[in-house]
Amino acid sequence: MRIIRTVAEMQQYSEEHRKAGRRVAVIPTMGYLHEGHASLIQQARKNADIAVTTLFVNKLQFGANEDFSRYPRDFVRDCTIAEEAGSDALFAPENGEMYTETFSTVITVRGISDKFEGAFRRGHFDGVATIVAKLFGAVRPHEAYFGQKDYQQTLVIRRMTADLNLGVNIIVCPTLREADGLAMSSRNVYLAPEERGKASVLHRALQTASLLVQSGEIRRQEINFSMLEVLRTVGELQIDYACAAQADTLEEPEVFEETEPIVFLIAARLGAARLIDNEVWQAVK
Ligand code: AMP
Repeated sequence: MRIIRTVAEMQQYSEEHRKAGRRVAVIPTMGYLHEGHASLIQQARKNADIAVTTLFVNKLQFGANEDFSRYPRDFVRDCTIAEEAGSDALFAPENGEMYTETFSTVITVRGISDKFEGAFRRGHFDGVATIVAKLFGAVRPHEAYFGQKDYQQTLVIRRMTADLNLGVNIIVCPTLREADGLAMSSRNVYLAPEERGKASVLHRALQTASLLVQSGEIRRQEINFSMLEVLRTVGELQIDYACAAQADTLEEPEVFEETEPIVFLIAARLGAARLIDNEVWQAVK
């Protein structure tokens, strides 16, 4: 696996493969890779000819009081996981390579960025949209792979890619989970041992909502309440939100259409960890 540190080298590497008629895929990550990331790399390698994993802890998407400085990092381990998953190159620029002293551009995707994660983490999606646009510029991919784990992020990136005519095919892959249902995340290392067992309550709440909708409930408040009821069984959990919304628009009608896809979104804090998870429910056609 080739390790690339500069934008110029990245562009040249990609250009050579594009000229040879190969399809280039990018898998953006902040490192501390786990099986969820590996599954994206494997999928990219199956669909495209060249898989470029990017590793960059993007300061711009962290709030002032968030975990940028303590975000877990392990470069050697990340190299092993990326390579074993089939990555052809790892683009791992230094901060100064991506954000030069004169850097002045911020991309804001209005509307879809405003609620849920955007409301609790002001400026977060500006940081995400800006770095993803920059990574697309550096890697010049045909396609890009993202996890459903960060559901709202996938909508923001789809919107930006379409609005700016970036010409990158966005592919969203399923969330990989631990055996008890907890969504894999680099941030799960923040969970103390006694918290770890309780963290699967998010997944149980999502499953409860899915079953409720499956049984015919389409009133939003009732669905939200079913999730809150489950989440409240863990007293230490601080719930940021537990909401059902239209899957494509994140709009929140009082009553959903019977056939429209619904996303259940949860964010909650447990000790030092902030956990997010989601599930999409779709009527069988
Ligand atoms: P991150 O390094 O956390 O920024 O994540 C990089 C990419 O991996 C994002 O597209 C995430 O949605 C995706 N990802 C993170 N966790 C998982 C997971 N458990 N399953 C699938 N994809 C994931």
